[in-house]
Amino acid sequence: MATRAYLDYNATAPIRPAAAAAMSEALTLGGNPSSVHAAGRAARARLEGAREDVAALAVARPEQLIFTSGGTEANNLALAWALPGRILVSAGEHASVLEAAPQAERIPLSPDGRVDLAALEEHLAEEPRPALVSVMLANNETGVIQPVVEAARLARAAGVPVHCDAVQAAGKVALSLADLGVQLLSLSAHKIGGPPGVGALVVAEDLALEPLLRGGGQERRRRAGTENLPGIAGFAAAAHDAAEGLAGFARLADLRDRIEAEAKAIAPGLRVFGAEAPRLANTACLAMPGVKAETQVMALDLAGVAVSAGSACSSGKVAPSHVLQAMGVEDELADGAIRVSLGWASRTEDADLFLASWAELYDKTRPKERAAGRL
Ligand code: PLP
Repeated sequence: MATRAYLDYNATAPIRPAAAAAMSEALTLGGNPSSVHAAGRAARARLEGAREDVAALAVARPEQLIFTSGGTEANNLALAWALPGRILVSAGEHASVLEAAPQAERIPLSPDGRVDLAALEEHLAEEPRPALVSVMLANNETGVIQPVVEAARLARAAGVPVHCDAVQAAGKVALSLADLGVQLLSLSAHKIGGPPGVGALVVAEDLALEPLLRGGGQERRRRAGTENLPGIAGFAAAAHDAAEGLAGFARLADLRDRIEAEAKAIAPGLRVFGAEAPRLANTACLAMPGVKAETQVMALDLAGVAVSAGSACSSGKVAPSHVLQAMGVEDELADGAIRVSLGWASRTEDADLFLASWAELYDKTRPKERAAGRL
């Protein structure tokens, strides 16, 4: 059955019409932004215009922004800059941070899903002085907003630069490189309604970034390769619309809260992870007790509802969520955790279909209670 309720925006958001239109226009424009002829100059103008729109999303200057092939490359580029130095990362980071520096020291999370600042401070005080701290702004699984401003303050006092993976936060909460106090910030187009395969790393002026990809002078010699202009144009259009829609995005919390409240009424043993901390308005990470996440995801898929089990970013594989583990959630409960995430085109009907299908599954998995008339 075709998907009738798409509730997996944290995996990827549907493309915004303005982004699709901008991409198709840029595709027909042609021209290489590095060429000196008229076609090249037109492409360059389009590229630099797009850079301004995307930089505005992080209140950064256009020259500070390097376009990449996505959030993963932006994270790898940021961490590679600090290697082989000591790197401190929060234990809840995305795999594209954790695996970019497997030797990085992991700062634990508190049970509410936020990075433990006291532990960060202790690690910062140890010798040799760390080369980088990496703390995401919003977690992709729980939506928990991390205390990046405070982490950056501690790092600054220790003379250590900070990278912030803002891939899930961009377009969902207001962002500012300077207000966060970080020196590197990662963005991704497809999480905000742009195309997949495009992202950006925003770099503070005083940081001399080393390229990962070499072989061309593009992006101020910080990332070689002809720029993906159609993708970048789509990114810019999505960034523009996402910034305009920030207030509307905050209102998604009403729909998310309704999903959580009604899910709790259906399944009294329900756990919502990260609910004690400030969270993105769109994300609910819930566990139906005793029912594996894969079973829920498959049953919902059959009913035309798309959600994911734990983190779906990496692949279809089902492994215990390292984020929930870091929050101290027991494996048995974490095995039942699904992520419901809303976005720019979410409707009340999507929540209704999710709740009806989820209630049906809950019922089916509790034949004893049903027989005893308790359902
Ligand atoms: N960082 C976070 C927090 C994510 O959720 C994702 C999602 O996949 C990424 C980075 C990677 O971004 P991309 O898919 O653009 O490579």
